[in-house]
Amino acid sequence: MEENRLEENKQLREKLERLLQQARRNEQTQTSFDEFTLSVVAAQGPKELFELLLNKQKQFRIDEIRLCLVDRFHEVERLLTESYQNSFPGLSFIDTETSNLLISDVPDRPVLGTRILTKYDWLIGFKDDNKYQSAALLPLKRGNEIIGIQLLLSKDLERYNKSDGTTFLRKLAAMIAISIENCINRQRTLEIGYQDGLTNAYNRRYFDERLKHEIDRCIRNKTDLVCLFIDIDYFKKINDTYGHQVGDVVLVRLVALMREQVRSSDIVARYGGEEFAVILPDTGIQIAHEVAERIRSQVEQQKLIINDHTLGTTVSIGLASLSQLKYHIDTSEIEQQHLDKMLLGKADEALYQAKQTGRNQVVIKKMAN
Ligand code: GH3
Ligand code: MG
Ligand code: MG
Repeated sequence: MEENRLEENKQLREKLERLLQQARRNEQTQTSFDEFTLSVVAAQGPKELFELLLNKQKQFRIDEIRLCLVDRFHEVERLLTESYQNSFPGLSFIDTETSNLLISDVPDRPVLGTRILTKYDWLIGFKDDNKYQSAALLPLKRGNEIIGIQLLLSKDLERYNKSDGTTFLRKLAAMIAISIENCINRQRTLEIGYQDGLTNAYNRRYFDERLKHEIDRCIRNKTDLVCLFIDIDYFKKINDTYGHQVGDVVLVRLVALMREQVRSSDIVARYGGEEFAVILPDTGIQIAHEVAERIRSQVEQQKLIINDHTLGTTVSIGLASLSQLKYHIDTSEIEQQHLDKMLLGKADEALYQAKQTGRNQVVIKKMAN
């Protein structure tokens, strides 16, 4: 009798201990989750935010994560990805045409289970293997608009059950959506300070900062980088003949034309009044020369119709590349800090030569050293 009671007590104590352990684990999970959501809301920039959403979040027994953002006006991707270098494989952007089709019936609330895996296979990025067994789909909404979706993938069939509650995930999704929107807005605000008010090209401040950054990156990746200096020929005559306003429109059109001729990852900036500078990262002299020549000939061919005036203009272009500076990868940091100035100086010299020797041409200055 006494022995039975002792055994019963022992079993009860063990059960209590297990429950306590479970409670402690739950509390720990809750604490790490609270910490996680707080850091999501406090993320300082897109890189930090994506790192949290696509990597750190895996600590909650998630095998893989996908994040897809709607990019109706083709600006979200640029805004969110241009400030950092490494890409996130789990991150994608969809434009209006595609998004209408793919996210038209995204549910209002999170959905759990296995059927998501087939429905969103386009986002998961695999077709024939079935390594993921269950998933959670989080619709990211602001107001009535879906701004993206997040997929949490698990190899465990039981991880996300259709019948599980979703209140917790709804809160998480709301927090993520707000953080992403904040991040986009912050990048927009930053960009306004980096833009030239008339042409919307980047301003000189941004150009100078970005050039340093791109030079460092290209040296690290052992790729070349080219800088173009572009100056409108006899621009003063356009102002004098047609007026300052017409001159302004010429500047706006020139920026549009340059942007058409370069990659979206290249940087077009207004360096001064009617002088522009372009950074072509990961580009060698030969390709850059072709790009510059294309810009030059397009400007020459383009007839501008502005306020009933038909006018044409030309540009002179100076080109300089990092490889021309014969830098060495082991160049001391101090020297590397000056590479941007040296590069700009060389491009400027080349532009000067283009002006001196007839204008409407691209010049690559031979390097003395
Ligand atoms: P060059 O072929 O030697 O470059 O001759 P240029 O006339 O283009 O060069 P110059 O430096 O003599 O004149 C540049 C002109 O650009 C003078 C200035 O009034 C004009 N300019 C600068 N900023 C603006 C602007 O924002 N709008 C307009 N309309 N004109 C501008
Ligand atoms: Mg000029
Ligand atoms: Mg000038």
